[in-house]
Amino acid sequence: MADELAADIKSVILTEGQIRGIVQRMGAEISRDYEGRNPLIVAVLRGAFVFTADLLRSITIPCEVDFMAVSSYGDGVKSSGVVRIIKDLSTKVEGRDLIIAEDILDSGLTLSYLVELLKGRGPKSVSVAAFSIKDIPNHAPAINPEYVGAHVPNEFIVGYGLDYAEKYRNLPYVGVLKPEVYQG
Ligand code: 5GP
Ligand code: MG
Repeated sequence: MADELAADIKSVILTEGQIRGIVQRMGAEISRDYEGRNPLIVAVLRGAFVFTADLLRSITIPCEVDFMAVSSYGDGVKSSGVVRIIKDLSTKVEGRDLIIAEDILDSGLTLSYLVELLKGRGPKSVSVAAFSIKDIPNHAPAINPEYVGAHVPNEFIVGYGLDYAEKYRNLPYVGVLKPEVYQG
């Protein structure tokens, strides 16, 4: 049934059209800032794969892409603060300009860990492109991304690559999950 996933969504935060505009703008910023530098886009799997695919196509300068998989959430909805590397890059990053592409920044713990880890490998530069940042009252994330897509409310969101228990990644928009879906 086509609406089976949509039925679990309480409200839509970002429509497909809004997402297109956001990612186009980020791609334009990166294309301007990295002209002549052939940056390596580091996609953080699995959540950022949809964003990265679109971001790459909105970048108009030569660039490369590689993938890293980390786990910070398990199947739950709260950050554990524990980051596990599940898949590492195949590309040598020494001397490269890296742009880490991430789906969502909550506490920022995952990303600050990744930035430090990659800096230790001697790249020329490391920046972060976060598709979304959670607006948490009175709480700044552990890291300030150079490129920010959208601010989203402090709720559990899914779609456009973001999952709950591996579901909803294929929703073409971003929405808030109905609490009863994860409260059982
Ligand atoms: P942080 O370390 O910044 O607290 O958490 C970052 C990671 O937690 C993200 O890459 C994402 O995998 C997951 N995450 C944080 N907030 C959400 C959310 O609202 N929805 C989903 N699906 N994942 C989230
Ligand atoms: Mg993630």
